[in-house]
Amino acid sequence: MSAADAVTDSLQNLRDRFIGVRDGKPADYIPQLALANPDAFGLALVSMDGHRYVAGEAEVPFTLQSVSKPFIYALALSLLGLDEVSRWVGAEPSGEAFNAISLEPGTGRPANAMVNAGAIVTTALIPGTPDEPAFDRILHCLGCFAGRELDVDEEVFSSESVTGDRNRALAYLIRSTGTLPVDPVLAVDRYFRQCAIRVTAVDLATMAATLAYGGVNPVTRERVVSAEVAARVLAVMATCGMYDGSGEWLLRVGLPAKSGVSGGLIAVGPARFGVATYSPPLDATGGSVRGHAALEAMSDRYGLHLMLNP
Ligand code: GLU
Repeated sequence: MSAADAVTDSLQNLRDRFIGVRDGKPADYIPQLALANPDAFGLALVSMDGHRYVAGEAEVPFTLQSVSKPFIYALALSLLGLDEVSRWVGAEPSGEAFNAISLEPGTGRPANAMVNAGAIVTTALIPGTPDEPAFDRILHCLGCFAGRELDVDEEVFSSESVTGDRNRALAYLIRSTGTLPVDPVLAVDRYFRQCAIRVTAVDLATMAATLAYGGVNPVTRERVVSAEVAARVLAVMATCGMYDGSGEWLLRVGLPAKSGVSGGLIAVGPARFGVATYSPPLDATGGSVRGHAALEAMSDRYGLHLMLNP
């Protein structure tokens, strides 16, 4: 068997092994997400030579949700620099749920850019230009990470818009501490739109692989962000990417990762690969049950834990 066949084979084996897991259920606090097929289970891996390996429903579209957060943090760092971004959003694991109503005591900043509060701020920090409004810039940047033009799922966007009062409340709270640079309504609208961008597991694996490859998309060979920015984003993903399950994830799987409530999950093997899974049923921390199990098994089987591969 060729090396390429072996990778495809191992993704397929992971799918076969975990497709029968029936725990968790799709998010329903955004009503449109509850309509997802709970049996869909796609896996994709992109190597540093730009090869794409897939198994199962790797081409099924779903919305980015929180998997957008590290990439918009990368865009903010690229445009504004670490010191400026850090004035607005911290880099400490919060140990709290993704939607916690909580800000850093003293500074009033959100704890980090992976929780909702921090992501609303990073999204708000992206400046528009006369030629390119801020959201177009966000969409374009995410497309560069994915290696193709992306679009917005308007149904998911309006579904979250009409039910997203908690995020709206968060934005007003942040505004009250002076750490939101734009109007709360505008910030949340832009954030919901970013969360509703449509991708597939193959897109996510390519986005993850771009971070793994020091900011260069290994498929298109385009530099999307600098190596320094990619490294900083991976650091925050490693400590905060899995919300209140981040410590346990780093302990067991040992890879920078980010989950999203539509069932997408990415993990990054720096300088080696980007991997993504799609399976809508979620655990209590808002991460995909099958995705979590598959990536943990993959890390175990191939010794991918970063502390084993410094
Ligand atoms: N749009 C979702 C929210 O703000 C994203 C959460 C997630 O994917 O973890 O609630």
